[in-house]
Amino acid sequence: MAHVITGICLGETYARCAGVCPVDAIHPGTWRGEPFMVIDPEACIDCDVCVPECPVCAIVSTVEADPGWAKTNAELAPQFKKNPPLTPRPADDPPHKPGHKLVR
Ligand code: SF4
Repeated sequence: MAHVITGICLGETYARCAGVCPVDAIHPGTWRGEPFMVIDPEACIDCDVCVPECPVCAIVSTVEADPGWAKTNAELAPQFKKNPPLTPRPADDPPHKPGHKLVR
């Protein structure tokens, strides 16, 4: 089991989740030309701390909630974990993409 970052993160990467993860399981990168972050399923301990940190609600708590993005997180994690961390965006920074809404 692991938490999963979904496509709502694409183009947003608030990166607030990575700063609170106690096991450094969240890593940034680029996927299909857009900034994205993933959760390494090998490292995640399902503590749930990252979920309320995401202003656009991009993180789901189970693989079953979004199996497609869970597969993408698992596939990208080995390469993304080599990337340096991002500076988090403020939680009230408006989303970059139309259709995304601040929900926290
Ligand atoms: S659930 Fe906990 S361990 Fe897993 S990515 Fe989120 S903060 Fe890290």
